[in-house]
Amino acid sequence: MTEHNKLMGFETLCIHGGHKTESNRAHLTPIYATSTYVFDSAEQAVAMFKGEEKGYIYGRFGNPTINEAEDKIAMMEAYGLKNQNGEPLQFKAILHASGMAAITTMLLSNVKSGEKIITHPSLYGGTQEMIDKILPSLHIGTIIMDLHDLDKVEQTIKTNKDISMMYLETPANPTLQCIDLEALASLGKQYGLTVCADNTFATPYLQQPFKYDVDFVMHSTTKFLNGHGTAIGGILIGRDMEKMNGIVTKTHRLLGGNSNAFDAFVLTNGLRTFSLRMDRHCSNAMKVAQYLDKHPAVTKVNYLGLEHHPHFAIAQKQMKHPGAMLSFELKGGFDAGVQFIDKLQLCTSAVSLGTCDTLISHPASTTHVGVPREKRLEFGISDGLIRMSVGLETIEDILNDLENSLSKS
Ligand SMILES: *Cc1c(COP(=O)(O)O)cnc(C)c1O
Repeated sequence: MTEHNKLMGFETLCIHGGHKTESNRAHLTPIYATSTYVFDSAEQAVAMFKGEEKGYIYGRFGNPTINEAEDKIAMMEAYGLKNQNGEPLQFKAILHASGMAAITTMLLSNVKSGEKIITHPSLYGGTQEMIDKILPSLHIGTIIMDLHDLDKVEQTIKTNKDISMMYLETPANPTLQCIDLEALASLGKQYGLTVCADNTFATPYLQQPFKYDVDFVMHSTTKFLNGHGTAIGGILIGRDMEKMNGIVTKTHRLLGGNSNAFDAFVLTNGLRTFSLRMDRHCSNAMKVAQYLDKHPAVTKVNYLGLEHHPHFAIAQKQMKHPGAMLSFELKGGFDAGVQFIDKLQLCTSAVSLGTCDTLISHPASTTHVGVPREKRLEFGISDGLIRMSVGLETIEDILNDLENSLSKS
């Protein structure tokens, strides 16, 4: 739980949020490399295990380095939000070993055997595989449908009484599909569903799903939150304290997908410059999108800041800025994609996203090479589709690298 709810600017929160004074007067919270914590007395041990006294017990349950990152991110998601009485909202966050671990804890602490999840296409690959390969053996089913037709969604929820969760991810790969958080969360809650949102692409700086009736927000902190590509991590944030302190904490502890002090330290360190980084990521991405949109070798640019994107209006409504992710299609198809990647001299050819450097990938020849072509096209991944996470380099250098790589021979 966040400790201080003083009115702070977002930038101040990035730097100071969640920090607690250290007993040895260390400026930064140290990396707590210890697996266990010492009890002063048998009495204290009893009180702690009963939950009557707060304190650290065992590393899998958390430590001060992890706690700082958790509180900082919980405060970011709550930033500026108020309840009906005008009081600031407070959330609880639990840091995990990865985005997938956070998503797993969320799913397994909320959905029971015999129930179903309603969601949409183009989820993060790992989440999709979880739904396809792990959940069915637990008798948890999934209905995947276009969530833009609200009447159809409502009919589906009405006729499938076993749906208990609505799972949203917005924006999503590869064409930056957006889901209307306000409309869907309110529909989901109207039918008593648990509504959750993967906010990794947008980050709390650009989009706060808790503004709407969302119950849980997940992030892969590996991406923009860490921002430097130094650690894998994930976070699960919830508004229902009883549930967060109860079944969610229990599930997190027992599944064992806990984070560690080093990863938490580098995450907190990255978060100090988070808002500054996001501003530059976003302004660079807008310039890249505008440049590519006019390039003769490019047939299509998928960027939420371009008016021709089908979800431009949804993004305008729920995001502070269209973000730093984009994709585009090369006229020359598969071969052009491979050649383009090979010619890059500045931008980094790698999967993942949200790091300081610009990351570029060609899904057809890498992440989706094993997916049959028809299936791949169905997902919107054409032969010449290039995905780009726009970094913080000097914009002219990024544009020059693109220009050189897009030119023939
Ligand atoms: C990367 C990612 C994940 C998974 O996170 P890991 O940290 O790799 O486990 C989940 N959702 C989205 C949208 C992602 O980009």
